[in-house]
Amino acid sequence: MAGQLVVRVHLDWTDPGHYDASRALPCRCCTTPTKMRDSQGAACHQSCAEDEIARELLGSGRARIADERVPAPAQRLQEVAR
Ligand SMILES: [Zn+2]
Repeated sequence: MAGQLVVRVHLDWTDPGHYDASRALPCRCCTTPTKMRDSQGAACHQSCAEDEIARELLGSGRARIADERVPAPAQRLQEVAR
């Protein structure tokens, strides 16, 4: 029996910066209007961003994702190396 890889991503978008109550804009993934915003301020549904990252983890996506953890471990290593 062939194995099946399942990737589930859940983003914590409880930060108020992920919601723009003033206006709905077309989601950058599915173009349906949304008031949600990604970490770079672009209109994006949370579920679309989660799907995008899951596809990226599976190697089939072209996500424009940003690591929201601050600071990222790799960044810290670079700072030490300087
Ligand atoms: Zn969407």
